[in-house]
Amino acid sequence: MSLFVMKFGGSSVGDTERMQRVAKRVAEKKEEGHGCVVVVSAMGDTTDDLIDTAKRLSDNLPAREMDMLMTTGEQISISLLSIAIQAIGHEAVSFTGWQAGFETEANHGSARITNIRPDRVLKALEDGKIVIVAGFQGMSEDGEITTLGRGGSDTTAVALAAAIQADACEIYTDVDGIYSTDPRIVKCARKLPSISYDEMLELANLGAAVLHPRAVEYAKHNSVRLIVRSSFNYNEGTVVEEESSMEQGVVVSGIAYDKNVARISILGVSDVPGVLAGLFGALAAERVDVDIIVQSGSQGGTADFSFTVNGSEVERALQVIESTRGKVPYRELTSETELVKVSIVGAGMVSHPGVAAEMFRVISDQGVSIKMVSTSEIKVSCVIEGEKVKDIIAALHTAYNLDAQEQAFVGGPQDRR
Ligand code: ADP
Ligand code: ASP
Ligand code: MG
Repeated sequence: MSLFVMKFGGSSVGDTERMQRVAKRVAEKKEEGHGCVVVVSAMGDTTDDLIDTAKRLSDNLPAREMDMLMTTGEQISISLLSIAIQAIGHEAVSFTGWQAGFETEANHGSARITNIRPDRVLKALEDGKIVIVAGFQGMSEDGEITTLGRGGSDTTAVALAAAIQADACEIYTDVDGIYSTDPRIVKCARKLPSISYDEMLELANLGAAVLHPRAVEYAKHNSVRLIVRSSFNYNEGTVVEEESSMEQGVVVSGIAYDKNVARISILGVSDVPGVLAGLFGALAAERVDVDIIVQSGSQGGTADFSFTVNGSEVERALQVIESTRGKVPYRELTSETELVKVSIVGAGMVSHPGVAAEMFRVISDQGVSIKMVSTSEIKVSCVIEGEKVKDIIAALHTAYNLDAQEQAFVGGPQDRR
């Protein structure tokens, strides 16, 4: 008998019919003689809807109460799925994150898992039950309910798979695997039979929603066998593993994009030692996640800085910078939102000069100017205005020879916002 963790995302449990489909899928696995632990997300757009409701009540959302609110979404899913599974004749039991033993840091909204005590999960498995666990949630040392960050149910699944030494962690979603880019944007995206943890981690960090970055990190560190497949069909999925069997000699293996990028510019900052440490230290203290940082040459004793943050953090970042003005004087503070970061990723890039130049050419051929660039050994990212992003991703996909020969993508429903 093998032990599987099966994770179903929001769109896979979007309504009662889909919930029944998931129940059937899990029952099939159980009937094959396997142990099954199921991790579920909130139904459809529930989490977004809960956040929108709170926003109608306040401009300043208290992080603790937001976690209290958001975790209700997953609690609805686990109970309904357990009901659906029991209705077709299997024994099942649902657990919240804390009942399943998820201990986390205290920071609300993006708490890291610190420990898992899966005793109740293991006991229920021993009793022959299908165990259903709420994704994306845990409890801090002082008994506060926390969440793991948007999309965090993937991480719940992988962490649980590691903790109970499952044979595999299967992520069931609305696409049938990991593609060379988002198959909803580029129809001729190519499905990858496998991908390395490192490349997938880079893609996930750069915005590929198909897996939560921490889930990939966790899988790599604990050697969890991770598979992405569809909850709507039985196609073979994509395996994430140490060494991928992807074609050798491929320079760029994937393209990711992050739609919700904001750029903040601080102009005329006195160019004295300690300025950067002061600015970014203040942002770090407030847990504002800063991504690309660019300093332009100093003139007349002052310099200009630009950096990017997630669009949802722009107001907070501006407040922090304004509050440091006494210590770090500047002339002007500006921000731009609704920018997109497009990134090409590939382990083969390091030994191929000219890859970045090709990316710049493709973007400029579309008449779009590049606002910021950031590179590492295995990626190049460009920040641009959002308008022509679909065309640019498609053009990059073709330029790096990623287009599938035949149209590969057979999607599930597209009903998310
Ligand atoms: P779930 O609700 O199951 O967690 P997500 O929306 O978080 O689903 O992730 C699945 C989505 O990820 C797909 O619908 C697809 O649009 C998107 N996606 C982005 N990049 C990729 C990629 N490289 N391969 C597959 N899907 C991708
Ligand atoms: N429901 C949470 C979210 O929408 C967690 C998840 O779906 O993984 O972010
Ligand atoms: Mg997801």
